[in-house]
Amino acid sequence: MSPRPRLPRQDCAHCGRHDRCTRIVLEEAVCQRCTLRFARTAQPCPGCANIRVLAFYADRRPACAPCTGNEAVYACTACGREDSPWGRLCGHCALKEKTTALLSGPDGGINPRLRPVYEALISGPRPQTTLYWFTRSTGPATLGAMARDELEISHATFDTLPADRTNT
Ligand SMILES: [Zn+2]
Ligand SMILES: [Zn+2]
Ligand SMILES: [Zn+2]
Repeated sequence: MSPRPRLPRQDCAHCGRHDRCTRIVLEEAVCQRCTLRFARTAQPCPGCANIRVLAFYADRRPACAPCTGNEAVYACTACGREDSPWGRLCGHCALKEKTTALLSGPDGGINPRLRPVYEALISGPRPQTTLYWFTRSTGPATLGAMARDELEISHATFDTLPADRTNT
């Protein structure tokens, strides 16, 4: 016997895969893959018209968590939106958090001279694209060094931004 309790495997109500089903979607246990797919397909809620994850029933019609008196498990813990999941935060809030951390100087606040860079980074239409850029590009390291006064802030600063920010 395993010393730690393990979740029993069962057939996912949505895709039929035999797996650990940890989340209840539309009143049935579903696997983690289906949970993820639900979390990424927010759509207008028939109850409140907000873009929400419709994983709960109201009079047998799918609706969002607040409209059905359920815990908002798909909502961003910072702003509550459900249309742009990125872990516990939405893409917009995750991007703001990451960008603030990156561009903060030794005193903690965003370096004033890098404020336009901050605005450019967080204002894009697709925060996920910029979040991927954080992990794939050398630009963030360069900007971070500038924010900490380890590198001179130059006109070349904007060359380090994701391409879809500088072309618009
Ligand atoms: Zn499934
Ligand atoms: Zn609703
Ligand atoms: Zn948010």
